[in-house]
Amino acid sequence: MAKLYFRYGAMNSGKSTALLQAAYNYEERGQKVLLAKPLIDTKGEQLIVSRLGVTRAVDFTVGANDDVYAVFQREREAVIRADGADVACLLVDEAQFFSPQQIDDLLRIAIREGIPVLAYGIRTDFQTAAFPGSRRLLEIAHSLEELKTICRCGRKAVFNARTIDGKFVFDGDQVAIDGVDVTYEALCGLCYLDESGDSLASGWKAPVALGIEPMGPDADFA
Ligand SMILES: [Zn+2]
Repeated sequence: MAKLYFRYGAMNSGKSTALLQAAYNYEERGQKVLLAKPLIDTKGEQLIVSRLGVTRAVDFTVGANDDVYAVFQREREAVIRADGADVACLLVDEAQFFSPQQIDDLLRIAIREGIPVLAYGIRTDFQTAAFPGSRRLLEIAHSLEELKTICRCGRKAVFNARTIDGKFVFDGDQVAIDGVDVTYEALCGLCYLDESGDSLASGWKAPVALGIEPMGPDADFA
């Protein structure tokens, strides 16, 4: 049975590069792939833009209310007519911007059509809350894989802090496109809490002091 894969990571973890590499791997074996992305991402319009400088046009974009299953089948039919071969894989960039219903369609495509779906996206927004599409992917994807990137301090980055004019901001709309309205910096948990003043998606809370000398984080996890 084909699977739905969610490959997630913080900003700048190389998701688009990994997607384009996966597409290349299929095509190197003579197989057909379809590339899709949501319309909401205005960064590259119809392009998947990798930070390494590789760009590639998507085969179709998906509007907020589009029936992804129907659009995919239409595009798949065009491939079969043109090439006489079926689609081997559907690759989705910026999958966090798909609606939960559209993510459900990706699962249907994998299971009912037997075509693997590789969805790449960001797990959480700048306030550390899941994007609706990412939450649904975390719920139903057969396979979860984290693409890693490094915080400014050297730890693994897990959150996406938003900056405007070089200053961190922790209030605002969930969606603001990187490089257009704002910029983002991938941070580890400690750097995020330091910058947000101990705020997370549920609000603010001060660190709770321990009544005795702490043993340090290495004591339990060495
Ligand atoms: Zn850090």
